[in-house]
Amino acid sequence: MMEFNTVIGRNLLGEINHVAHEPFVVITMEDLWPIYKNNFDPSTKVIFVESTEKKWLDNLINKLGNYCSIIGLGGGQAIDSAKYFSWKMNKPFFQFPTSLSVDAVFGHRSAVRIENVVRYVGWSVPECVFIDLDIIKSAPIKINTAGIGDILCFITGVMDWQYARDSGQLEKQWEYDEELANTSLIKAQAVIDEYQEIKEMTDKGIKIMIDALKWGGSSYCNSGWNPRHIEGVEHLIFYSLEYHTKKTFLHGQAVCLGIVIGCMMHKKRSEELKNIINKIGVDINPKSMNIGWDEVKHSLVNLKDFVEKSNFMRGISNEYIFDENFFKEMIRQVED
Ligand SMILES: [Zn+2]
Repeated sequence: MMEFNTVIGRNLLGEINHVAHEPFVVITMEDLWPIYKNNFDPSTKVIFVESTEKKWLDNLINKLGNYCSIIGLGGGQAIDSAKYFSWKMNKPFFQFPTSLSVDAVFGHRSAVRIENVVRYVGWSVPECVFIDLDIIKSAPIKINTAGIGDILCFITGVMDWQYARDSGQLEKQWEYDEELANTSLIKAQAVIDEYQEIKEMTDKGIKIMIDALKWGGSSYCNSGWNPRHIEGVEHLIFYSLEYHTKKTFLHGQAVCLGIVIGCMMHKKRSEELKNIINKIGVDINPKSMNIGWDEVKHSLVNLKDFVEKSNFMRGISNEYIFDENFFKEMIRQVED
């Protein structure tokens, strides 16, 4: 089982100065840098990520100069960009996630946008992923808890995989695998069972989330680039939302909305998962994502076309027909 070296501990960021190949460049976000810059020498080269559009990233590479290693410091965008630069420039890199918002840090490929549609490209293996418990705990709670989106999606992922199997739509290369599906369901169940630890972001809660996010990140490659046991309709809903609204989302938050809607489409576990998402404190009301219900409906009505045009995995999105009753029930469940 190929998994990235991961170290969980405290006071890890300062130590990177004695570890990373010099000179190194830090890839981070403008709003995060003031919080963490004291860990570095003032002369440290820093790049602020403004976009994960492939064009923007490729442009930057030309300006990056001769650095011997790369440090990714941040949430999904900085982490994905560090992976992408490492791949393109063939340089070693170290990852410091500042929150648990996504599983990006544990996967080989970078999520980049090409013409506003997400694509996973590259092959990057970090020297190490450093999980600094105090850094994680200092992230806004709403960003950390949103990370359950990339874990509870195992449940809707497996639903969609079974649906594709039972409706004869299954991709040849992704034959249903009971063992993969069960491992995913066990990891997701740990989050449900220990939701109190996650709500409070205790050391135990963080470790449960890391274990599940690691599974999501690594088993995609380990299963032969099979995403079916780790994501499904909920991510497709999120991609459709992103595509049709052209807005930026907190990944896990929008995915959690997709999970509840996906469960409703499958007519399974929607109340249960909505309650857990609620208890952990992830707000899935579109208002909290600065979008309206009309935009959610538009993204759903166009989901089938979007999924087919983009050539995403097959499942319930390819067949489901949304009607007013569904929308009424969806709004009731989410706003309840
Ligand atoms: Zn995700």
